[in-house]
Amino acid sequence: MTTSTAASRPSTETGLEQFKMYIGGQFVDAQSGRTFDSENPYLGRPWAQVPDGSTTEVDAAVDSARAAFVGGWGTATGFERARLLRKLGDLIAVNAERLARLEVQDNGKLYREMIGQMQYLPQWYYYYAGLADKLEGRAIPSDRPNYLVYTRREPVGVVAAITPWNSPLLLLTFKLAVGLAAGCTFVIKPSEHSPASTLALAEIIDQAGFPPGTVNVVTGLSRAVGEHLASHPGVDKVAFTGSTETGRAVARAAVGNLNKVTLELGGKSPQIVFPDADLAAAANGLVAGVFAATGQTCMAGSRLIVHESVHDELIDLVAERARAIKLGDPNDADTEMGPVANRPQYEKVLGYLQKAKDEGATVASGGIASAEHGGLFIEPTIFTDVTPESTVVKEEVFGPVLAAYKFSSEEEALALANDSQFGLAGAVWTKDVHRAHRVAAKLRAGSVWINAYRVVAPNVPFGGFGDSGLGRENGIDAINEYTENKSIWVELSGETRDPFKLG
Ligand code: NAD
Repeated sequence: MTTSTAASRPSTETGLEQFKMYIGGQFVDAQSGRTFDSENPYLGRPWAQVPDGSTTEVDAAVDSARAAFVGGWGTATGFERARLLRKLGDLIAVNAERLARLEVQDNGKLYREMIGQMQYLPQWYYYYAGLADKLEGRAIPSDRPNYLVYTRREPVGVVAAITPWNSPLLLLTFKLAVGLAAGCTFVIKPSEHSPASTLALAEIIDQAGFPPGTVNVVTGLSRAVGEHLASHPGVDKVAFTGSTETGRAVARAAVGNLNKVTLELGGKSPQIVFPDADLAAAANGLVAGVFAATGQTCMAGSRLIVHESVHDELIDLVAERARAIKLGDPNDADTEMGPVANRPQYEKVLGYLQKAKDEGATVASGGIASAEHGGLFIEPTIFTDVTPESTVVKEEVFGPVLAAYKFSSEEEALALANDSQFGLAGAVWTKDVHRAHRVAAKLRAGSVWINAYRVVAPNVPFGGFGDSGLGRENGIDAINEYTENKSIWVELSGETRDPFKLG
């Protein structure tokens, strides 16, 4: 393996930026010497070269993470962990611009969204730094006079973090900040479609001074790399964000090793609009929910369930706004929607547009690819006249596609909203405070917004019901996903007890 002290450098030979993996505190190429190209979806051409790692590098990374867990990070005090997490947060803030640009190059999301995400990212590290030195056990009053009983919270061990392409660093941070606070070490496998920002983060982690092996990053074009990591016997917990289909495979692999697992998966989130809602605000929330980030968010509010009396008025409002959405260069400050992040996803979205038309949906706006801007653009699309059985209502499109259908009563709205295998998020739009809370309570979803959409924070739990996942990220309780609870019994009398009696 070739090693160096930096994750990336421009190459004059290829014109592509070159990246390295990060294993055991070293920046390394793949042992095979192979690389793969990462493509800029706006320009439609490669912009970076990334090591094409394999199971060999996964094994090396897991070994490094284990060594760091046993001899370094796993035994650091909570105060030391907190200090380095704060430092990492500070360094991310300093590097926010570069990290945002890397994500824009890799997945075509808007700079204006990604810079906001990168500037917010440090909050996760500061928040969990605040928890790192407060992981206390409890003294439990014993039911026997001669025992002292207490508990300790101990780190789970080596975590495999496997992430998708849509918001690579934000979704990694949901895992990394809390896991590092707990004292876990990491092997990270970013998506083959957007690996660059995670490799650049490794450089920042190195600068922050984390012990070598605390965080390792392995990249690879083949999905076998993630598969090998998820099923690795040297891993103690798997933290995964991605599609429901892959999530099932990851869960099976984790169960095979009897590992802890958290899964953040897909969604088909409903936005219910009642007749008394502020329709302009709801239209804005629908745009934010399904057209922001080109609809490529797990929490996309992709099902509009609207009262029949305001259906036409609301569709007109959203369609008018959708038609005015400015498509274009994701780096331009006034662009509102960028391209789809990669070609397979682009083809998948086009397939859903055709399927919806074949099944009789009416196009209220969009419904086609946009040739005007080059790249992988799809017009913001609204389908009406769909039914609960329509494919575009049942399946996650992961693109700028809204499916709208009607209800006539609150019960019907809830039944339609909950008629889904997914349960990640949802929204209720109404001015009636009683109804707002009543409906929010009955929605089967991990996050519900009332008169808002698409807000997350480090201190608020996030995760899904049903096929949307297992466990929760963010918030205080997420620390439990990265710690084991150990009970310790201390015999106080020093006397010999009857060996044939329990207790
Ligand atoms: P994906 O499932 O195809 O891939 C996710 C990651 O898993 C990638 O790094 C991939 O290389 C890796 N992988 C592939 N096969 C694997 C295997 N057998 N074992 C282990 N790892 C494997 O998902 P994607 O296309 O990158 O992302 C889009 C999906 O992610 C959407 O379905 C979306 O809803 C979901 N998502 C969920 C959330 C959430 O928080 N719930 C957030 C963002 C995206």
